[in-house]
Amino acid sequence: MILIKSPEMVPTYPQCGECGGTFVSKHQALSIEDDELGTVRVGIAPYLACDGCGEHLYPFDTWGLIDDAIDRERRQREGAPC
Ligand SMILES: [Zn+2]
Repeated sequence: MILIKSPEMVPTYPQCGECGGTFVSKHQALSIEDDELGTVRVGIAPYLACDGCGEHLYPFDTWGLIDDAIDRERRQREGAPC
Protein backbone atom coordinates (compact mmCIF):
# COMPACT_ATOMS: atom_id res chain seq x y z
CA MET A 1 0.00 0.00 0.00
CA ILE A 2 1.30 3.43 -0.94
CA LEU A 3 0.33 6.70 0.71
CA ILE A 4 -0.60 9.62 -1.50
CA LYS A 5 -2.19 12.86 -0.35
CA SER A 6 -5.13 12.87 -2.74
CA PRO A 7 -5.91 11.74 -6.27
CA GLU A 8 -5.92 15.39 -7.37
CA MET A 9 -2.24 15.67 -6.49
CA VAL A 10 -1.34 13.08 -9.09
CA PRO A 11 -1.64 14.85 -12.46
CA THR A 12 -1.49 11.63 -14.41
CA TYR A 13 -2.23 8.47 -12.52
CA PRO A 14 0.92 6.50 -11.91
CA GLN A 15 1.61 3.25 -13.63
CA CYS A 16 1.45 0.19 -11.44
CA GLY A 17 4.89 -0.95 -10.31
CA GLU A 18 3.64 -4.52 -10.07
CA CYS A 19 2.17 -5.13 -13.50
CA GLY A 20 2.50 -1.90 -15.52
CA GLY A 21 -1.27 -1.43 -15.46
CA THR A 22 -3.05 1.89 -15.06
CA PHE A 23 -4.56 3.20 -11.84
CA VAL A 24 -8.17 4.25 -12.15
CA SER A 25 -10.10 6.40 -9.70
CA LYS A 26 -12.78 4.58 -7.67
CA HIS A 27 -15.30 5.74 -5.13
CA GLN A 28 -17.08 2.71 -3.81
CA ALA A 29 -17.24 0.17 -1.01
CA LEU A 30 -13.72 -0.64 0.13
CA SER A 31 -12.42 -3.52 2.24
CA ILE A 32 -8.83 -3.91 3.31
CA GLU A 33 -6.86 -6.90 4.56
CA ASP A 34 -5.42 -6.32 8.02
CA ASP A 35 -2.66 -8.66 9.22
CA GLU A 36 -4.30 -9.05 12.60
CA LEU A 37 -8.02 -8.65 11.90
CA GLY A 38 -8.37 -10.06 8.40
CA THR A 39 -10.91 -8.38 6.14
CA VAL A 40 -12.07 -5.02 7.50
CA ARG A 41 -14.94 -3.25 5.78
CA VAL A 42 -14.15 0.43 5.43
CA GLY A 43 -17.32 1.52 3.63
CA ILE A 44 -17.62 3.93 0.72
CA ALA A 45 -14.30 5.68 0.15
CA PRO A 46 -12.28 7.19 -2.69
CA TYR A 47 -9.19 5.33 -3.82
CA LEU A 48 -7.21 4.33 -6.89
CA ALA A 49 -7.07 0.75 -8.10
CA CYS A 50 -4.85 -0.83 -10.74
CA ASP A 51 -6.88 -2.15 -13.66
CA GLY A 52 -4.35 -4.95 -14.07
CA CYS A 53 -3.59 -6.53 -10.70
CA GLY A 54 -5.95 -4.65 -8.37
CA GLU A 55 -3.22 -2.95 -6.32
CA HIS A 56 -4.66 0.00 -4.37
CA LEU A 57 -3.49 3.55 -3.74
CA TYR A 58 -5.21 5.30 -0.83
CA PRO A 59 -5.50 9.08 -0.52
CA PHE A 60 -4.81 10.65 2.85
CA ASP A 61 -8.50 11.02 3.77
CA THR A 62 -9.12 7.38 3.01
CA TRP A 63 -6.34 6.38 5.41
CA GLY A 64 -8.36 8.14 8.13
CA LEU A 65 -11.41 6.06 7.25
CA ILE A 66 -9.30 2.89 7.23
CA ASP A 67 -7.90 3.72 10.69
CA ASP A 68 -11.41 4.33 12.00
CA ALA A 69 -12.65 1.05 10.54
CA ILE A 70 -9.76 -0.89 12.12
CA ASP A 71 -10.40 0.76 15.49
CA ARG A 72 -14.10 -0.07 15.27
CA GLU A 73 -13.41 -3.67 14.27
CA ARG A 74 -10.90 -4.13 17.11
CA ARG A 75 -13.29 -2.73 19.70
CA GLN A 76 -16.10 -4.97 18.45
CA ARG A 77 -13.91 -8.04 18.82
CA GLU A 78 -12.74 -7.07 22.28
CA GLY A 79 -16.33 -6.42 23.36
CA ALA A 80 -17.73 -9.65 21.99
CA PRO A 81 -16.97 -12.99 23.64
CA CYS A 82 -15.25 -15.38 21.24
ZN1 LIG B 1 -1.05 -3.62 -11.29
